[in-house]
Amino acid sequence: MLDNSRLRIAMQKSGRLSDESKKLLAQCGIKINLQEQRLIAFAENMPIDILRVRDDDIPGLVIDGVVDLGIVGENVLEEEVLDRQAEGFNPQYKTLRRMDFGGCRLSIAAPRDFDYTGPECLKDLRIATTYPHLLRRYLSQYNVAFKTCLLNGSVEVAPRAGLADVICDLVSSGATLEANGLKEIEVIYRSKACLIQRQAEMSADKQALIDKLMTRIQGVIQARE
Ligand code: ATP
Ligand code: ZN
Repeated sequence: MLDNSRLRIAMQKSGRLSDESKKLLAQCGIKINLQEQRLIAFAENMPIDILRVRDDDIPGLVIDGVVDLGIVGENVLEEEVLDRQAEGFNPQYKTLRRMDFGGCRLSIAAPRDFDYTGPECLKDLRIATTYPHLLRRYLSQYNVAFKTCLLNGSVEVAPRAGLADVICDLVSSGATLEANGLKEIEVIYRSKACLIQRQAEMSADKQALIDKLMTRIQGVIQARE
């Protein structure tokens, strides 16, 4: 039987959210040794286990109730929710708070010489993306149908490689787009990291621990504002 008494928090193992997630938990007073390449790390001073996984797995782990809390980009969360809804499910979770890190935007970008006058220009084009559901939700507002080229990486090289006409990818500074001869033409979603909780009710002990953590997170984030 799984030990369900300790609070399980999923965070990104390595990537753009991992350092900030780690720092936040440390600043909340959770003593944890994340040095080793382990999937699970146990807190020494609180009944908390940290699960370190690919960011894409975090929304599902929370929605399926495998972990209690997760720190993940809203972009990844929303795409997973839309994907499950498209499959006919009704995914449930609670958003505890938006974080002050992981800021980025999901944007459509086109080759520099693309003559862009509005979303209608994208009609029937092939768009490379990791986020087909967020893209479809956005373009359906303009009744723009498109073809997808699903890629989990190297999205920005798709136009040059002849795989797609334009792309829809995460941008922060825009330097990667620039380096690939692309220009940002439409911002479709603004994202930050967020803290989510599984929907099912927790034991009183676990809920009290979550409440305590929330108060600390609030304090940490306020102090650096
Ligand atoms: P993993 O190996 O965990 O699947 P990944 O390569 O999919 O990692 P990262 O590139 O580490 O993911 O990005 C994680 C999250 O960081 C993104 O989903 C997004 O919410 C956020 N983020 C912030 N800025 C950027 C950016 N410039 N590009 C991509 N993601 C960004
Ligand atoms: Zn990922």
